[in-house]
Amino acid sequence: MKTVISARDIEDLIRSGGDVRSLPADAILTPSARDLLRDLEMNPPRTPPAAAGKPPAPAAAAAPQPPAKALSARSPKPELEAFFNSAYCLDLKQQMCDVGHRMWERAYVDGNGGNIAIRVGEDLALCTPTLVSKGKLQPFDICLVDFQGNQLLGARKRTSEILMHLQMMQKQPKMIASVHCHPPYATAFAVAGIEPPTCMIPEFEVFCAVATAPYRTPGSPEMGKLVSDLVDKHNLILMANHGVVAWSHNNVEEAYWRTEIIEAYCRTLVVAAQLGKPLNTFSPGQLQDLLRIKQGLGFVDPRYGLKECELCDNAEWRPGVQCAAPSRPADEAPRDPEAEKVVQAITDQILAQMK
Ligand SMILES: [Zn+2]
Repeated sequence: MKTVISARDIEDLIRSGGDVRSLPADAILTPSARDLLRDLEMNPPRTPPAAAGKPPAPAAAAAPQPPAKALSARSPKPELEAFFNSAYCLDLKQQMCDVGHRMWERAYVDGNGGNIAIRVGEDLALCTPTLVSKGKLQPFDICLVDFQGNQLLGARKRTSEILMHLQMMQKQPKMIASVHCHPPYATAFAVAGIEPPTCMIPEFEVFCAVATAPYRTPGSPEMGKLVSDLVDKHNLILMANHGVVAWSHNNVEEAYWRTEIIEAYCRTLVVAAQLGKPLNTFSPGQLQDLLRIKQGLGFVDPRYGLKECELCDNAEWRPGVQCAAPSRPADEAPRDPEAEKVVQAITDQILAQMK
């Protein structure tokens, strides 16, 4: 497999004193890496003059390290407690709180909805508690559970939806973290039973691979089974009439990004479908390019290996603009003619700008 190089890799290389000319010639560059290389060509970084007599700048604080010995549900309780109270575990708990706060601020969760899990051992996971708003989540709220869902540590009761996350982890050995929430636009697609069409926006193609699971009661083993059956080739599952769940083989931050990306994507589609024009898509060849980047990043996708003619099939997606508006029943009150005029004027302006 060819190496995929991101802008971050290039920045790390430069920071460690490396030379960008040492990058493998056949490496696949992400778009941001390509931009960065172009910038570097135009403005090569100046090496700072050796600071005579000055002490070297202190290195950034080292990230807390995971326990030397892998833990499992069979580990002695004191070992589990030491892990649960360690700086490493606190860092993970803080990452979960940070993601929870951002989900709440962006209105991806409502009431006490949404949950987050991180795999921390062979059959162990950290998870969010039940009945706590993600907007107020604190590190001491986080629970430790085994893969049967038994709570091992933590002052609060674990979420009832953890069973689904655990079933996903058992089915997908690469999975490190998962995030479940109810972002309105993506959830609207899940309610309407429409899988978002493809070949429209690069970010969505690279970071997400979407499938839909039918509705079952949240927290039930049946729901967990339907979702976990999809995680071998999909990293974001639309749960019909409920919400979304995303997973990552890297970290909880990346699982959360996926929810931001699908929500922005679904929102853009809804807006684009109102503009009165058929939506443009990229070509199968352009999608194939993105899939190569995706595969290099280690993300799953059911489309790897498909022929170009099998990609970009949007036949199922019929934007609202193509549907005739249903005629209003005769007994319905007529709309405000002034408001209608304003709406018409705005629509005309948008259409005029697009021409
Ligand atoms: Zn939910």
